[in-house]
Amino acid sequence: MCGIVGAVAQRDVAEILVEGLRRLEYRGYDSAGVAILDTECNLQRVRRLGKVKELADAVDSNPIIGGTGIAHTRWATHGEPSEANAHPHVSGDISIVHNGIIENHEVLRAVLQERGYVFESQTDTEVIAHLVEWELRSAKSLLEAVQKTAAQLEGAYGTVAMDRRDPERLVVARSGSPLVIGLGIGENFLASDQLALLNVTRRFMFLEEGDVAEITRRDVNIFDVHGNAVEREITESNAEHDAGDKGQYRHFMQKEIFEQPTALINTMEGRISNDTVIVESIGAGAADILRNVEHVQIVACGTSYNAGMTARYWFEALAGVSCDVEIASEFRYRKFVTRPNSLLITLSQSGETADTLAALRLAKEKGYMSAMTICNVAGSSLVRESDLAFMTRAGTEIGVASTKAFTTQLATLLMFVTALGKQKGVIDPQKEKEIVTSLHQLPTQIEKALAFDKPIEQLAEDFADKHHALFLGRGEFYPIAMEGSLKLKEISYIHAEAYAAGELKHGPLALIDADMPVIVVAPTNDLLEKLKSNIEEVRARGGLLYVFADSDAGFEECEGMKIITMPKVDEFIAPIFYTIPMQLLSYHVALIKGTDVDQPRNLAKAVTVE
Ligand code: GLU
Repeated sequence: MCGIVGAVAQRDVAEILVEGLRRLEYRGYDSAGVAILDTECNLQRVRRLGKVKELADAVDSNPIIGGTGIAHTRWATHGEPSEANAHPHVSGDISIVHNGIIENHEVLRAVLQERGYVFESQTDTEVIAHLVEWELRSAKSLLEAVQKTAAQLEGAYGTVAMDRRDPERLVVARSGSPLVIGLGIGENFLASDQLALLNVTRRFMFLEEGDVAEITRRDVNIFDVHGNAVEREITESNAEHDAGDKGQYRHFMQKEIFEQPTALINTMEGRISNDTVIVESIGAGAADILRNVEHVQIVACGTSYNAGMTARYWFEALAGVSCDVEIASEFRYRKFVTRPNSLLITLSQSGETADTLAALRLAKEKGYMSAMTICNVAGSSLVRESDLAFMTRAGTEIGVASTKAFTTQLATLLMFVTALGKQKGVIDPQKEKEIVTSLHQLPTQIEKALAFDKPIEQLAEDFADKHHALFLGRGEFYPIAMEGSLKLKEISYIHAEAYAAGELKHGPLALIDADMPVIVVAPTNDLLEKLKSNIEEVRARGGLLYVFADSDAGFEECEGMKIITMPKVDEFIAPIFYTIPMQLLSYHVALIKGTDVDQPRNLAKAVTVE
């Protein structure tokens, strides 16, 4: 789930490996380590609990010589975060790094203990090290030993093996956790994400499921799951060196909107298998916490609050667990009653939001059973101070108006709700499979939503002379309307409000006239007929409607009502999908208004003050 970097080179690689880990920091981790071989077959291993900086400082003060090495940032799933559990793990001459989870580690551990292996960590990973060591006793090569080991592993993994006696060779295996090989001149690299290697190469070979590859300074030999030699295409990457570059985009916000399919892939990687959510991927101890949760309290601010509001529908409808959502600045100053076995969930892009952090500290005092954060910045205060941290892995978000942090929060919340429902016995395997299948489709569906960029750009022209807008939705689309209205006001400075459509006649209907555009999020669902009545109420009063719906919803364009017909998507992911046109609309309206899109007036990215 976390980061892997490896290198086989003539030059010393310690710095390249540590820099690679730094570039993967956004994924979240609790410890880091590196193992390097020099030409004399000496193995040097350094591991540190905490940030990559701790590891970098250790390596700086005690430089490591050697051209072949592997490095890892760990996100503990089996065994607490500690130096002893940090990777690389060593068995005899073999060193191993591993991303993911070995599901049959207990059975393998028992077999290996019988063979006399002594375990030095609590990780599932250590079984791989001992298995490779064992297999290599009879195998012809490290490659064969890893192939034999891979055949015994169940679960999701990306792993790299290094043999002290053979210092110019690495063997990698991929199954459910990505690995990419970076090709250099007279040197080769590997990583769990190409980003880690962009300072050393731009030429990549992406391994496919089941591939095992042997990497030396001069060659890369890849074998598929059946052991047949295969070629994998070499691609030239044009990915950006760092997040601080806008690339082909006009604004960071635009870039971040279009990064959402990739951000979502990263967020879900290693956390869902074909048809299940991997509960352990939430963190060590998550399964026990989830089983005992009876109530969820979400606390957040701004966009994160809207994500929490959306998730409330999921917590109650899918997992059968009661859920409240509150703005952090209210929660922290309210004399609240703590319900038994309550889980506090904080949501924050930065992990430093002052009110949210204060709410977390207060909840701990007030007897909350546990606290989890869903956050985008590894090592942030919320991550450090929570019992569990489920990282969103959206990558650095620079635009002040949050986009990819929101959709990845939603995907993370949906995975969490599914895990919770499963642990509580409310979500059966069939339901779990349906949700996970939808999640697998999500990145492709988001691409389809992004294809509406041009039509929405045209639509935005209607808003050029407007000063107000109303957003409507029902059910889980009400918070999506809230997020749409927040985006519009943040970056275009148009006064926008969101209402649950059923509330119209309790006040806001008085505002409707030809100068008040009304944006409606209206995909087909159980509440559509009710929403249609609300739309009629607006039409009857001469309001201008912009309805985002799917083809099954049966809307027809007419005077005063524009219909934007989106593809039909599964109900579980529909709120995430309908966020995209809201983001695009606000972005294009802001362009027309000529505002500072990335740094809207009066706003800051991480709100670290009350
Ligand atoms: N399951 C392994 C561990 O707990 C690897 C976790 C990761 O992907 O970082 O050590």
